[in-house]
Amino acid sequence: MTTLNDFSRCVAQYDPHALPVKAAQAIVRQWAAPVAAVERVALRDALDRVLAADIVSPIDVPSHDNSAMDGYAFQSAALASGIATVALAIVGKALAGHPYEGGVETTQCVRVMTGACMPTGCDTVVPQELVERNAECTSIRFAARAVAPGANRRLAGEDLARGHAALRAGRVMRASDLGLLASLGIGEVNVRRRLRVAFFSTGDELRSLGEPLDPGSVYDSNRYTLFAMLRRLNVDTLDLGVVRDEPAALEAALRSAAASADVVLTSGGVSVGEADFTKQLLQTFGDVAFWSLAMRPGRPLAFGRVWSGERPGLGLPALFFGLPGNPVAVMVTFYQIVREVLLLMSGATPQPLPVIRATSRQAIRKRAGRTEFQRGVAVQSEPGEWHVTPTGSQSSGVLSSMSEANCFIVLDHDEGEIAEGQQVAIMPFDGLI
Ligand code: AMP
Ligand code: MG
Repeated sequence: MTTLNDFSRCVAQYDPHALPVKAAQAIVRQWAAPVAAVERVALRDALDRVLAADIVSPIDVPSHDNSAMDGYAFQSAALASGIATVALAIVGKALAGHPYEGGVETTQCVRVMTGACMPTGCDTVVPQELVERNAECTSIRFAARAVAPGANRRLAGEDLARGHAALRAGRVMRASDLGLLASLGIGEVNVRRRLRVAFFSTGDELRSLGEPLDPGSVYDSNRYTLFAMLRRLNVDTLDLGVVRDEPAALEAALRSAAASADVVLTSGGVSVGEADFTKQLLQTFGDVAFWSLAMRPGRPLAFGRVWSGERPGLGLPALFFGLPGNPVAVMVTFYQIVREVLLLMSGATPQPLPVIRATSRQAIRKRAGRTEFQRGVAVQSEPGEWHVTPTGSQSSGVLSSMSEANCFIVLDHDEGEIAEGQQVAIMPFDGLI
């Protein structure tokens, strides 16, 4: 078995005491194996699920050439004679769902409505507002230059061509994708089974909702934040509650989590001082590295694998993230380190979170040598012109800063102090968190 430590040493810039965010992301990505099991679901149940295989279009969409306008279909040969005005006799009518079955000569046209099949031989449609009809409605006239050959015709297969991949495996299904599959006549699809993620909080000071808050204790907020962030990723969640800082309780919780989940997330108990007993414990049934990330907030992080059995390799495995306890650090670490892994393990093809440039309305204190994710409020003063103001306290315990903010201000590893008016990178998180 390759251990995490053997593996990590091969990663450039591997320093467990000051691990750059990008190096940590590169390591954890390597351990993310997608769940193999596939489920067949009805189209409506496929929203937000991950497609397990490419969908190859069984038909052309649209299935026939059809009109893009209300007007008159004719053969473009009628335009070729060099005359200024085209005159055509109306020989029939075609509506969407009611094709015109007869023949059409160069001197003739067919009244067509949007979506109607192009009559055989016709390749061009002149929109109705560009023609003059005679009083009996038996013929039309229009300026030849008003329409180019092939205009206003939608080609068969122009939306989706038969035999081509309409959607790729790894796609997280959106509203348009459900409609797209319906347009192909597909009513059921194969998706990956949902990833199962177990989580619990550690700390003797933590109280669950409904319990009285005795002096020195705090309500456990991390489990709710984690639950909600996981829900946004459409994974199955297993909430294992609060676990006391006791080796036996922690071991029981971790091993039962590994028995029932693909991934185990914990919060708290990994900072220096607290980490010692967790470290010792995890060595008995896990392969876990304790890192100090070069980032703020969210320095301490434990990462590796745990097993439901008594020794590493025994029983069922799960990927393990020991997140810091501070409420903001939990969220930042989740988005920067955990999220991509969960998407990969769900079988999805993750896209990087969008980053845009904004002008800082304030000077920002920053030390080179670590990546900072400050909380900011971004406003768009003009379309495409973003300004950002950091929220007041940037302490990693102040969760209200996350609720107040709508973006992370991402200050890169090598970046130093930011002056007022300077450009910074922001990562908007509306809709994400
Ligand atoms: P720790 O990482 O366990 O040393 O915790 C760091 C800080 O985060 C301490 O102030 C804890 O009380 C706080 N904390 C840890 N876990 C939670 C939690 N689940 N909910 C709210 N605060 C927490
Ligand atoms: Mg603690």
